[in-house]
Amino acid sequence: MKLKVLILAGDGIGPEVTQEAVRVLKTVADLGGHDFSFDEKRIGGVAIKADGTPLPKATLDAALESDAVLLGAVGGNEFNSLTPDKRPEAGLLAIRQALGGFANLRPAFAHPALAINSPLRPEVIDGADILFVRELLGGLYFGKPREWNRETGEAWNTMRYNRSEVVRVARVAFELASPRRRKLPSVDKANVLEVSQLWRATVTELAPQYPDVTLDHQYVDACSMHLMNTPRNFDVVLTENLFGDILSDESAVITGSLGMLPSATIGGAVNLYEPVHGSAPDIAGKGIANPLGAILTAAMLLRHSAGLEQDALAIEASVRKVLDDGHRTADLLRGGETKRKATSTQEMGALVHEALNEIIDRRQAMHAV
Ligand code: NAD
Repeated sequence: MKLKVLILAGDGIGPEVTQEAVRVLKTVADLGGHDFSFDEKRIGGVAIKADGTPLPKATLDAALESDAVLLGAVGGNEFNSLTPDKRPEAGLLAIRQALGGFANLRPAFAHPALAINSPLRPEVIDGADILFVRELLGGLYFGKPREWNRETGEAWNTMRYNRSEVVRVARVAFELASPRRRKLPSVDKANVLEVSQLWRATVTELAPQYPDVTLDHQYVDACSMHLMNTPRNFDVVLTENLFGDILSDESAVITGSLGMLPSATIGGAVNLYEPVHGSAPDIAGKGIANPLGAILTAAMLLRHSAGLEQDALAIEASVRKVLDDGHRTADLLRGGETKRKATSTQEMGALVHEALNEIIDRRQAMHAV
C-alpha cells in the first residue's frame, strides 16, 4: 500500500503530538510492509513568521498533491491582536476550504479506564459512543457578508446554507449511522433560524432513502443538555458547522480530556485529519501534552484514506491497552490520582508504539498459522 502523507504540525503542542501520531503510522508501515512517505510543510503561526502568511502556497500545493493531510493545531496568543483574516486560524479555514472536505467526523467515546476523569458519573457515561458529523465548509464560519465595523461599533456574520450543502453532509451521516445503531438526531435551531428550517426540511426529505435509520430532530440547546444527561442515547449526530464545533468540544467531558478527541474531514479532494484540540499555548513546549487524540487521528487516516481498517483498529486497541495499564498524561490525572507521576507526551507515544507492535505481531502470527 502506497500513501503520501503531508504533515502540517503547526503551532504550540501541534508538533509535539503530531510526532507521536507519525510514529504510529511508521510502525504500521514497517510491520505491514507499506510504502508511506511523509513530507512536512508550515501552516498557522509558524508560517506567518517564516513566510508572512498562515497558508503558504507551497503548503497548499503539497496538500493538494498528497493522499492525506495530518495537521497538529494552529494558533498562539501572540497573534490574538491580528484581524481574523491574518491570524493562524485563517490558514486552517483556507486549507479546509481548498481541500474541499465538507464532513468533519468527530468520534467521542467513554474509555472505561478514564471514567474517573469525567465530571459526569461513571454510570452516566458508561458505554457512550458518539460520532458527530459536523458540516465544515458552510454556516457562520464561511458565510458572507462578515465584518466588524469599528467606526459604527457593529459587527455581523452570516449563517448561510444551500440545499445541496445540507444534502451531501446528511448523506454521509445517514450512511455512517446505518452500520452503527441506526439512530440519527439532526441538530438545529429551527424554532428561531430560517437556515435551520431549510436544514431540517432537507434532512427530512432525505430520510425515506435510508429506511433503516431512525431520524429525529433536536434543538441545539436541548441537545447540549441531553448529551450530558444521557450520552448513551446518542449514536451519530448530524449538525452544522458552529453547533458541531461546540457540541463536539462539550463531549470531551465524556472522554475525560479534550486531548483524547480525534477528527477526520472527508468528502473533498484530499482528506484532512486533525485532533479536535487547539495549540494549547498554556502547556506548549513542556512535553506534557496528551498525544492520544493525535494518535487516534492517525487511526482515522488509515481507516478513511488507506482502507487499512485492521490497522486502525489495532491503534485504537493499543490506546485502550496503555490506558488500561494505568498510564496517564497530566491532563488525565484527576481525582485521587493527582499524586501519581504523569506520563510525558513522548513516553505515551512510545507506550502506544510498543502496544501496537505487540498487537500487530500477534495478528500476523495468527494469520501465519
Ligand atoms: P485548546 O484546545 O488549545 O486548549 C483548551 C484547554 O485544553 C487548555 O487548557 C489546554 O491545555 C488543554 N488541552 C488541549 N489539548 C490538550 C492536549 N492534547 N493535552 C493536554 N491538554 C490539552 O483551546 P484554546 O485554549 O481555546 O485555544 C488555543 C489556541 O488554539 C487558540 O489560538 C485557538 O484559536 C487555537 N485552536 C486551534 C484549533 C485547531 O488548530 N484545529 C482548534 C481549537 C483552537
